[in-house]
Amino acid sequence: MVSQIQEKQAPWQRQLRDVVTNVDELLSHLNLTQEDCLIKQPFPLRVPWRFVSRMKPGDPNDPLLLQVLPTAKEWLKVPGFSQDPLAEAQSNPVPGLLHKYQGRVLLTVAGACAIHCRYCFRRHFSYQDNNPGRAGWQPCLDYIKTDSSIHEVIFSGGDPLLATDEYLAYLVDKIAEISHVTTLRIHTRLPIVIPERINKKLIKSIIRPKLKCVVVIHCNHPNELDFSVKKSLDQLAAANITLLNQSVLLKGINDSSSILKALSEKLFHYGALPYYLHLMDKVQGSAHFDVDETTAKTIWQELVAQLSGYLVPKLVKEQADALSKIPLL
Ligand code: SF4
Repeated sequence: MVSQIQEKQAPWQRQLRDVVTNVDELLSHLNLTQEDCLIKQPFPLRVPWRFVSRMKPGDPNDPLLLQVLPTAKEWLKVPGFSQDPLAEAQSNPVPGLLHKYQGRVLLTVAGACAIHCRYCFRRHFSYQDNNPGRAGWQPCLDYIKTDSSIHEVIFSGGDPLLATDEYLAYLVDKIAEISHVTTLRIHTRLPIVIPERINKKLIKSIIRPKLKCVVVIHCNHPNELDFSVKKSLDQLAAANITLLNQSVLLKGINDSSSILKALSEKLFHYGALPYYLHLMDKVQGSAHFDVDETTAKTIWQELVAQLSGYLVPKLVKEQADALSKIPLL
C-alpha cells in the first residue's frame, strides 16, 4: 500500500519526502565536522537534496550551508530580537489571513516549508492556528469579499506551493470569483529548492484569465541558481507569469556588493527581476545573521554604482507598525 502511494507521487513530492533532516547526515555528506551544531531544537534542520547538491563539500562557510545549518548561536538571547518581530498576531483578523498593508491580504496557504531557513521571521509563527484547511477558508474569502479595497491576494506560508495542485486550483477559483481581486501573488522558495515543483499541472492550477499572476521567488546567493532552477523559471515565464525575486541581507552569506551583483545578473538571465533586498527581521535565534543599517546602505550604494538601475533591488526593512515596507534609501 505504501509503495502504491509512493508510486503515485510526483517527482517533486518524492524530493520533498527525502529531505535531509539529520545534521550528521548532512555534515558527513559534505565531508565536514562541526562541534556547535544543534541536533535537536524546535526549528529543526530541513533541506532538500537539490539544495544540498549546490553546496561545496569541505567548506564549513558555504553560503548555502550557513542558511540551513542549526547552530548553538541560535540559543543566544539578544535584546531587540523577538519571536514575532513584525507583530503579525495583531494583523490576523481571521485564521489564515493577514491584513497588514492597504489593498492586499496574505493567506497562509501552507503551514510548512521544504527548507528551514535559519533566519526565517516566521520560525516561531503558529501555523497550526493559521492553516484552516479547505473547509476553513470561507471566513477568509468572506473577509476579502466584504472589503472592495483588496485587489491583490498573496499566497504565502510556509511555502504555498507545497499545497497540492487540486487544493491550489480550488482556492484560486474562489479568489477569481471575487470581482475586485485582480492580482494573485505567490511567494515561494520551491522553484529554487525543489525546481521539479514547477510543472504544467501546477501552472494550470494557478493561472486564471481574470487574475494577473506574479511569482516572487526567494533566492539569497547566486550559487542557489543552477540549470534546474532555470528550467522551472522558464516554465513560469512561458505562462506569462511575472517573476520577481526577494533576498534577505545576511551576514556571512551575501553581505557584499560583489555577491549581490552576481545574484542580480544571474537572476536577470534566469528571467527574474530583483525586487527587494530585505534587512533581516529581528527574529529570536537569528541575531548572528544581522547586518546593521549603516553597513546595508554602504553595500547597496556600491551595488547601485555597479548595476543598471533595473537590476538593483529596493533596500527595505519591515516595521511592525508601518503601513508598508520602509525603503532605507
Ligand atoms: S522558505 Fe521562506 S517561509 Fe520557509 S523557512 Fe525559508 S524563509 Fe521561512
